Amino acid sequence: MKIAIDGPAGAGKSTVARAVARRLDLTYVDTGAMYRAAALACIRAGVSVDDGAAIAALIGSLDIDLATASDGRPVVLLEGEDVTDAIRSPEVTRYASPLSAHSVVRRALVSQQKAMARHRDVVMEGRDIGTVVLPDADVKVFLTASASVRAARRARDLAEAGHAADVAAVQAGIEERDRRDSSRADSPLRRADDAVEIVSDELTVDEVVDRVVEMALAKTEGTRQSTSRRMPTERAA
Ligand code: C5P
Repeated sequence: MKIAIDGPAGAGKSTVARAVARRLDLTYVDTGAMYRAAALACIRAGVSVDDGAAIAALIGSLDIDLATASDGRPVVLLEGEDVTDAIRSPEVTRYASPLSAHSVVRRALVSQQKAMARHRDVVMEGRDIGTVVLPDADVKVFLTASASVRAARRARDLAEAGHAADVAAVQAGIEERDRRDSSRADSPLRRADDAVEIVSDELTVDEVVDRVVEMALAKTEGTRQSTSRRMPTERAA
């Protein structure tokens, strides 16, 4: 089972994807965390986000890994260092979006993401999962919400993580990121043609999770039925 969840910043993708992974016992893959870890590495190396040559030199040798802590929490590792909290800073958030527009960065991370999903069942979330990373995903969801709702949720998350957050400034940042992520030439943020759009403004997390889980179960059921329908013909042939 492969589930792709895409959508703009602050739509609740991580919360939903994690809960779906728990309910269906799938591996949760946060691709945004990988772009953020790459951003942190570039910032630490003093690389300008416009310096394509320096970024290309750095990205090839980066060791970014997603792991699970003993308490089940997803952990992001950069060269073996736990950077789970460090990649959530506003500086990294600002850097990750223009960095992810570089094709050299996307090529490196997309091939790692495809490899992660090759031999396991996953819920993968990002911006280009249904369109580029897992075009054959069993379930594709485009999760979105109005910019004001997303900003309010993001500001609350930031405040809880100890970062001062003004909702208007958060909303401006989100809109700027959405614009950049949607207009880049390489794998822009967009709904895959066969993705189901869920607008979460009026929905609770549990309602969205239920809907995604139902889609996954319906898919499994459909596959089982079509397999059993095919079986007698195959045997007769
Ligand atoms: O999802 P999150 O906000 O953590 O992602 C950080 C940034 O990484 C996004 O603004 C986007 O520019 C980039 N990204 C991407 N493709 C993905 C996931 C994230 O370009 N699949």
